[in-house]
Amino acid sequence: MYVSMPQLMQGRKALVLGVANKWSLAYAIAQAFAREGAELALTYQGERQKQTVEELGHELSAGTRVYPCDVTNDAEIESLVASLGNDGGRIDAVVHSIAFAGRDELSRPFLETSRSGYLLALEISSYSLVAVARAVSPLMAAGGSIITLSYIGGVRVVPNYNVMGVAKAALEANVRYLASDLGPAGIRVNAISAGPVKTASARGVKDFSKMLESFAAKAPLRRNTEPAEVADAAVFLASDLGRGVTGNVIYVDAGFQIMGL
Ligand code: NAP
Repeated sequence: MYVSMPQLMQGRKALVLGVANKWSLAYAIAQAFAREGAELALTYQGERQKQTVEELGHELSAGTRVYPCDVTNDAEIESLVASLGNDGGRIDAVVHSIAFAGRDELSRPFLETSRSGYLLALEISSYSLVAVARAVSPLMAAGGSIITLSYIGGVRVVPNYNVMGVAKAALEANVRYLASDLGPAGIRVNAISAGPVKTASARGVKDFSKMLESFAAKAPLRRNTEPAEVADAAVFLASDLGRGVTGNVIYVDAGFQIMGL
């Protein structure tokens, strides 16, 4: 007898930031959320991305709403929240899947990191989680789940990851402080530390293909990470299955992080 599985996010409203294209981790997460019955809102950065994200959103689900949001711009974050408020009010889950560092910073020695490159990487990849959490949490009056994406380069030295590793270290600390501040309101904050996946951002890291090869050779599961695996962990964190988990960094990386040499 076929028993259908209940949808884990039926009736939930999810805001997903960071869909650039079909290879984005945020896209895989939005797809899994739609599969589980969530109503979606997506954001794009800049006019040039508007049409792409609108098309992707409508492919995911006819009712997907799409808004502009450059996370370096406080006014855009505020107007995103105002629009979400006007378009139905409540938000149950937020996915922050955003990072940026200049190509130069991801190819020369970390020692050569420029002041402006450091500040830009930290602003977009780390501070933005604080800004988004502060702006959106008033829409989470019934509690909710905020999820960000991290990488092992935040706790270990990964060649060429450089300032992005420092940004991920700060991001993971943000998760703990935000979880402590927002926990009394029933809002959980967690990170998923994903294994390397070939996306537009990942291509900015020098020798990324070598990183994929050495990762698969060393990981206990002897393979790379699939975006769908990251997405299913996000469903766990965004749904009631993850109701007891906050302030955590969950590794979805084929086990890579346990290995020594
Ligand atoms: P991606 O598809 O390139 O996604 C990065 C997103 O960040 C893009 O949508 C990009 O928008 C957005 N973004 C950059 N600057 C922004 C700004 N100022 N305001 C708003 N959005 C901005 O790459 P991805 O690999 O899926 O990255 C998503 C997250 O996963 C990142 O935090 C990344 O560090 C993390 N992660 C990735 C891997 C991996 O191997 N791929 C592993 C672990 C963790 P535009 O394209 O329009 O600039």
